[in-house]
Amino acid sequence: MAVTGHASVKSRGSASTPAGRWPLLGQRRPLVLYLCAIVALDLGAIVLFSATASLRWQDLVTFGALMACGAVCIEASRRLGMPAGVSRDLLSAWWLPVALLLPPLYALLAPIVLQALLQVRVRATVLHRRVFSAAAIGLAACTASVGFHWLAADPWALSRGSAEPILYAVAAAVLFALLNTALIAVAAHTADPDMSWREVLWNRENVLLDVVELCLGVTVAILCGLNEALLVLALPPVVLLQRSLLHAQLQAAARTDAKTGLLNAAAWQREADTEIVRARRTGECLAVLILDIDHFKRVNDAYGHLVGDQVLVGVAATMRSQLRDYDVVGRFGGEEFVVLLPGADADEARQVAERLRMHVRLMAVPVDDGLVRVTVSAGVALMNAHGDELIDLLTAADLALYRAKELGRDRVCVPAAQPPRRS
Ligand code: GH3
Ligand code: MG
Ligand code: MG
Repeated sequence: MAVTGHASVKSRGSASTPAGRWPLLGQRRPLVLYLCAIVALDLGAIVLFSATASLRWQDLVTFGALMACGAVCIEASRRLGMPAGVSRDLLSAWWLPVALLLPPLYALLAPIVLQALLQVRVRATVLHRRVFSAAAIGLAACTASVGFHWLAADPWALSRGSAEPILYAVAAAVLFALLNTALIAVAAHTADPDMSWREVLWNRENVLLDVVELCLGVTVAILCGLNEALLVLALPPVVLLQRSLLHAQLQAAARTDAKTGLLNAAAWQREADTEIVRARRTGECLAVLILDIDHFKRVNDAYGHLVGDQVLVGVAATMRSQLRDYDVVGRFGGEEFVVLLPGADADEARQVAERLRMHVRLMAVPVDDGLVRVTVSAGVALMNAHGDELIDLLTAADLALYRAKELGRDRVCVPAAQPPRRS
């Protein structure tokens, strides 16, 4: 699910307020309204379709078989765990066939069953996220289901091999993916209006996964339409794919600092080492910056750690937005950030550090009664001038940072060049 971030946060003492106990109430008002509207729409659709649906044993058996496969998939990857925050799975391999083969009511119910199972068996996340996920997927799948049943008079014709119903099924699966992405993107953008629409809507990796989900969903629907027993053949490859997808996401999470989304210290050092070896081989310039938030302890003391955390997230996002894709940015620990700038000479490194300092200065985190602003101090070190090993560069940048603090903070310092070492 892609609902992340809180644009406004409560200050000290919020854990004992209703918003502390009910995280939904701590979200921005437009987000709360949007989430409630989608859930209400989903409930309305369930009531509407229940009133007109006629229960058939065949449908119940198919629904039960597909949900059982979903449950096996969840159980089989349960031990791996699930990355916190936004994560992807391949469960639509099971609810897409539900949408295609069964009346629309089942498309609304399937995500509720599987999301409840995820909540109980894998990760108990904030409840409103799960409920919203189930509602958004349910509405997208229900719309795809209505569309497919309208186009293909007999949905079970999907398994007779003729091109027309298969094309309709692909179109319905595309509609499902587009609607689901749009519903989640609106939530993500409402939660954090600073995020561009491109950021919330476009991600090459996610589009690739949508295509895989579409192929799996339509293939499983065709198999299931032939005979529910054939689901046994579909289950192992889907479980394997689901496990490798989770594994890849967990690996990425292990490199990332959970609070800011930047590289963590270990991953940053690995990537920085690689860049330094490359720069040594090619003779290119390279710079290392260390940035430290000034008087950050005062922010924590005045507003509490939650606001402090939001400041860390804001500073990280500001830095990321001001750097190139191939610059290596990490959180070194606490309120300290490190940046490696491949190809940067002394002038460029100083310019980048000044730009980061200015943009952090302009950034503000909204709290109950105003805005929290911070400044940063930065130390810069240059390849060759201050050493050609990561440890030397970090030591030089740290020394320069110390000097920037001493001179009054909110400034950039570069240490004097070191004389070349004798070998
Ligand atoms: P200076 O200008 O000299 O850097 O002062 P400072 O207050 O920023 O530095 P100091 O080292 O005295 O305090 C750093 C503070 O950062 C103390 C610590 O509680 C806080 N901190 C470290 N990690 C986190 C975190 O993840 N979240 C929050 N909210 N605070 C953190
Ligand atoms: Mg500090
Ligand atoms: Mg510090």
